[in-house]
Amino acid sequence: MQIDWPSIQSGSADTLHGTTADISGWMIPLDPQADTVDYFLLSADEPCCGGCVPRNPLTSLEVQMAAPLAPQSEVLALRGRLLRLVDDPAGWRYRLVDAVALDRPHAPQRRFSRRAFLASGAALGLAACAPGHFAGYTEAHEETAQAAQTAQSAQSDTAPAWQAPADTFTIDMHSHGGRVIVSRNPAIGAHRPFIPLAAPMRAGGMNVICLAIVTDTTVTRVADNRKRFEAWREPQSGELYALGQTEFQRAHQLVEREQIRVVTDTASLTALAPQGPCAIIAAEGADFLEGQVDRVDEAYTKHQLRHLQLTHYRVNELGDIQTEPPVHGGLTDIGVQVVQRCNALGIVVDVAHGTYDLVKRAADTSTKPLVLSHSALATHPGARSRLITPDHARVIAGTGGVIGVWPSSGTFHDLHAMAEGVKRMADVVGVEHVGLGTDMLGFISPPVFRSYEQLPDLASALLLAGFSQAEVGAILGGNYRRVFQASVG
Ligand SMILES: [Zn+2]
Ligand SMILES: [Zn+2]
Repeated sequence: MQIDWPSIQSGSADTLHGTTADISGWMIPLDPQADTVDYFLLSADEPCCGGCVPRNPLTSLEVQMAAPLAPQSEVLALRGRLLRLVDDPAGWRYRLVDAVALDRPHAPQRRFSRRAFLASGAALGLAACAPGHFAGYTEAHEETAQAAQTAQSAQSDTAPAWQAPADTFTIDMHSHGGRVIVSRNPAIGAHRPFIPLAAPMRAGGMNVICLAIVTDTTVTRVADNRKRFEAWREPQSGELYALGQTEFQRAHQLVEREQIRVVTDTASLTALAPQGPCAIIAAEGADFLEGQVDRVDEAYTKHQLRHLQLTHYRVNELGDIQTEPPVHGGLTDIGVQVVQRCNALGIVVDVAHGTYDLVKRAADTSTKPLVLSHSALATHPGARSRLITPDHARVIAGTGGVIGVWPSSGTFHDLHAMAEGVKRMADVVGVEHVGLGTDMLGFISPPVFRSYEQLPDLASALLLAGFSQAEVGAILGGNYRRVFQASVG
């Protein structure tokens, strides 16, 4: 069966595991000088030069030929048995084995423009060894990593590259990566297919994500001409608790499928994060509690919840939200009890989406630093705006906490503007209180940071915005790590 690159990218080729498949692409031998090769990479995009090694498992795959073949400079059509790799230490997702060349190549269906592909750094092999390197990966691929380093130096006159300082790893404070959330379409619901998560994390050097379930999905909808979400009906009793169970199960199915390791305390974070993709189980909105504080304990024990955002798009039992008129005057007494329970158990408290009044009472209540995982500064945020004022940000910093700057395209037009937004936040609260909250797959409109493969580009933009190498390390992970250690233990 003929397969195309979009099916590799989306993971829909998984269903062809073990079957015979035809695919066309550019052949990239690891040793360009060899007369014949029986192992090489097949890429969706033409290589830019002889020394380039693609690192992006969404736009290239491994090939093992049935018999050695001379290197080809034209598009190559192959037939072989397609294997879906689930635990590949280098992060490759597919391998074509027992492959033979076909006579008539099909032009590969290109998924990315060449410019975008080059801009991503993937074509130069930069991505896999840039931010937060993975120890196991680098050891296994020392030669290709060295080749990538060479390519990286060649590029250094155009964009500075972030070199993760020792003992630094990257953390996304807020993500729905892998499409962890159930679909609003009831016909799809919890049967929504996952999409690849570990591979883009590896490709971009993202070590850890706070993988956030959402438990108000079935009672919220897009409103105001696709500008925002709102709650449109009251949930039935037990409905959002059941949704929470489904979503926590999906989160664990996703990490199992992607071979992502769940970190539950400082020891596991420190030990596992440098080795490969990790997740901290998080919830965006405590709606699944349905006001029952003892369900925090259940989520901690049964689902490994370690990061809880109190409110989302529905005014729930815990308090008021930025996108609706206030009802409770901020954090409720139940909200106070939930914060106290999180402090006692060891769960990071996240006040994103909460009103300024909610944040102030949460700060007065919490004995641990607060997180506000995804937002950005505005001097005068409009009604229903998710942006925060400098005073709102200073309350978080006053607890020793971290504010994650988000990549909303409504706030920033590109990664450089986002980096400038990070700078403005750091100017207000201090660089030690700023982090990254991508809200991956959580936006209505595509954000300026759409894939973990863009992490090296974001790190470069932060360097260009004036941050030092160490400060970029603090923003991209170190600051959240400090709060996690203080909160979770
Ligand atoms: Zn959100
Ligand atoms: Zn979100």
